[in-house]
Amino acid sequence: MTETRLSRIIGIDLGTTNSLVAYVDEATGLPRVIADREGRMLLPSVVAFTPEGILVGEAARRQLVRRPQSTVYSVKRFMGRDYEDVKDELRYFPFAIRPADGIVKLDVGGRQVTPPEVSAVVLKALKERAEAHFKEPMEKAVVTVPAYFNDSQRQATRDAGRIAGLDVVRIVNEPTAASLAYGLHRLSEGVIAVYDLGGGTFDISILRVKDGIFEVLATNGNTHLGGDDFDRVIMLWLLEDIQCRHHAEIVRSGLDLARDGEAMQELRLAAEAAKIRLSTEERTRLTIPFADFTYHQDITRADVERLIEPLVARTLEPCRRALADAGLRREQIDQVVLVGGSTRVPLVRRRVEELFGRTAHSHLNPDEVVALGAAVQAQILAGGITDMLLLDVTPLSLGIETLGGIVSILIPRNTTIPTSAREMFTTSVDGQTVVDLHVVQGERELAKDCRSLARFELRGIDPMPAGLPKIEVTFLIDANGILQVAAKELRTGKAASIEVKPTYGLSETDVERMVEESFQYAEADVNARLLIEARNEADTVLTHVRRALGQGSHLLAEEERRGITSALEELEQARAAQDRDLIRDKTTALNHATEHLAELMMDAALKGALGSKRAAEIMESQ
Ligand code: ADP
Ligand code: MG
Repeated sequence: MTETRLSRIIGIDLGTTNSLVAYVDEATGLPRVIADREGRMLLPSVVAFTPEGILVGEAARRQLVRRPQSTVYSVKRFMGRDYEDVKDELRYFPFAIRPADGIVKLDVGGRQVTPPEVSAVVLKALKERAEAHFKEPMEKAVVTVPAYFNDSQRQATRDAGRIAGLDVVRIVNEPTAASLAYGLHRLSEGVIAVYDLGGGTFDISILRVKDGIFEVLATNGNTHLGGDDFDRVIMLWLLEDIQCRHHAEIVRSGLDLARDGEAMQELRLAAEAAKIRLSTEERTRLTIPFADFTYHQDITRADVERLIEPLVARTLEPCRRALADAGLRREQIDQVVLVGGSTRVPLVRRRVEELFGRTAHSHLNPDEVVALGAAVQAQILAGGITDMLLLDVTPLSLGIETLGGIVSILIPRNTTIPTSAREMFTTSVDGQTVVDLHVVQGERELAKDCRSLARFELRGIDPMPAGLPKIEVTFLIDANGILQVAAKELRTGKAASIEVKPTYGLSETDVERMVEESFQYAEADVNARLLIEARNEADTVLTHVRRALGQGSHLLAEEERRGITSALEELEQARAAQDRDLIRDKTTALNHATEHLAELMMDAALKGALGSKRAAEIMESQ
């Protein structure tokens, strides 16, 4: 007898704003998110390319203000997209984005990187997080994508996995994963609407759950709507207010706020922090220091609601369309599930509940629910769960361009996948030996209004009169939603067939090179990260100790004061050098040296110190 052990597969929510990794706990059978060493569940999907190495997550997010040109955020918006797709929003990004063979490349920190390479850094951090948890290598993952992701975007996501050393065994739509997480909790049987508003995407899905089977009835949404847009409208409103109220200072200092990348980042983060506070508070105060002045502003929840109301309204029409596609009235929806950090905004919840005419569920953490569902799907694939099956649908129709630029649809939208379709075509010109095939995706009649997925030629057809060749075109969509197209001429025994690669700019060799590079730089990157983390921690302690000394040094005997001062200087020296263990040791030593001072400041002075420490934290989190 041999012991058979399931190979472990992790579930990953690769989000625009935040990413998470989860697994199903064998003991309880429940999915759980894996935290990092500091206990944080969310990994900000932010990557910084610094001269010292690559930073990811919280460490990178902290660099946003200081190094806007070398820090990448919201990279998911660029995954598998070409320059035309994204050029309208480039002005919101502080780094240069340029076209490169059907994809885009980002100029960051003196490097040129592709979106999958950036996402791979995030995936790798999650992979390492899981490896630290299980103390064994993790090689397989289920990764989620928005339901509206097209073929190239899904392909780009798989490439990111490969670059990170992960075999992406399944790609699952995010709303589907969310319903799977709820399904595992046996929330209900019946029809579920999943409303997912994250940082950069909005998805609405209507699903039917019956006998442990999830079926997606319809999906709709907007790949370009989310909390980032809330932040943007708040930010623009603040910008206008600052320019108006601090006009004199701005003119005097020659500051061009709107063109100052660093200042705009600062504003963006302040806007987001205020928005998040206003989900639980009615009013908040915003403080943003600039070189020549400090901006103060009180914002109320009503202010923010007025600004974001049109954006929230834009999520409602796709909900109505999804209902119509599913052939359902709103009374036929049994459950409404809220997913994504932005559903914590009270106005969002209110509008959704009004639209569906019922209370929405959110008892699973809306930030985590997609990752939890990915973990459940991973467990199903690993063979650990056998009583559940997942049926997904195609979000957009797929077809080919025919004579006169008309689209002939082979697979209509909302078809359950995996699926295949076959149709016969013929030639329009006598003696034609080559046929152009143009694969498109979309709901419009004319190919030029649809999204072009691929073009290829079928060659070697024997010359025949027009209309005589029988060209069979086959579409095959696998369980990941990835499309393969084949064409064959049947009349002549000598048939030719071809397979399409999606029009997506990363070649096999590109991907291989990136895999190699990521191994090559892995160690240097880890070392750089640890050094920067040690320095950040040292900075925090240094700031607090300097402040405590300023406020409480009169409480100390001369000798003790000197002890603290010299520990402080030693840490400052260590911080300037490269030895992270030394920085750690000196940080601990300084913490130790100030224990007595902290005790002495337990009374009113202590309250003062805590007050200013809190102010420092709030400023940092903005
Ligand atoms: P994504 O799926 O795009 O990665 P998330 O589901 O993690 O995004 O949601 C991130 C968004 O949620 C951000 O725009 C963030 O500002 C917003 N968010 C998180 N918490 C709150 C909150 N308490 N109130 C309002 N918005 C929030
Ligand atoms: Mg999400």
